[in-house]
Amino acid sequence: MRKYKFLKSPLYLTILIFLTIPSVYLIINQYLYINNSINNQQFIHKNNDKPINNSNNITTSQADTKNTYSKRNFSGSNLKHSNEGIPVLMYHSISNRTGNEIQLSKNLFEAQMKLLKDKNYTTLSLDELYDFINYNKPIPKKSVVLTFDDGYVDNYLNAYPILKKYNFRATIFVITDNVDKYSHTINSPQIKEMSLNGIDIMSHTEKHENLLTLTYDKQLYSLKTSKNFLEKVTNKKVDYIAYPYGKWNKDTLKAAQDAGYTMAFSTSGTWTDKSDGIYKLDRVYISSNFDLSEFERRLTNRNYNNIHSKNMLSQ
Ligand SMILES: [Zn+2]
Repeated sequence: MRKYKFLKSPLYLTILIFLTIPSVYLIINQYLYINNSINNQQFIHKNNDKPINNSNNITTSQADTKNTYSKRNFSGSNLKHSNEGIPVLMYHSISNRTGNEIQLSKNLFEAQMKLLKDKNYTTLSLDELYDFINYNKPIPKKSVVLTFDDGYVDNYLNAYPILKKYNFRATIFVITDNVDKYSHTINSPQIKEMSLNGIDIMSHTEKHENLLTLTYDKQLYSLKTSKNFLEKVTNKKVDYIAYPYGKWNKDTLKAAQDAGYTMAFSTSGTWTDKSDGIYKLDRVYISSNFDLSEFERRLTNRNYNNIHSKNMLSQ
């Protein structure tokens, strides 16, 4: 009986609480670490994050306000239609940091962009891609779309100057809840500046949610919130979205449509064409492990990935 009395004593309970809390903390941490490792290839987690305060020293250069980036009409004989497809390249971070294959060095990125320029590639805006996919409006045979996921600040610091140098168009899919909050994410002035200079700023949801785990209503909320946020910052329509981790379900396709998006992207597959479905377009993954010849292979051969090629799937 004395033993049981001790179990109910305040001293025993206090000791128990002090022993339990650190163990629970360690278990939760371990769980988060494992989850981060699993997602590492698709998303760099906030291991280097510093919340931004007012002394954030990343400032934007003078915005170039002459907007010469309206939709183009392509003419001539060297054109193609949407049945031929187009490589939509998917980048993430452009940074000299190592340790994650979605972090491409500045030098490698520069070499890839130089290759596109030397081989006379045309980089399309997403509006131009939309017209190509949806209305079969012809584009130059050598066309490519450049996209960046997550909205890392290094897109502004490292990729944007190179894109500007070659007068290339590109798209950044931004996780809007991170904007103006973390130093690793582009901020509102940077978004505004790039948006005026040939870079489409589009949605990558509000919090990089795995949409498969959300109800239709929660998906719709995230898709709408991120759209509204970016439309306010850029003062432009945000019609396109890329799903985090490339994951979507039936609710996602409906939510994307109901939120007002007209085109959406997954993360994998091969080249993009109409057969993908306008709300789940394929993209071509670009890893820092690829050398220039692998880059060129993916750029020039729509069946670069034989295992997942459309020809194989349709058979
Ligand atoms: Zn992502």
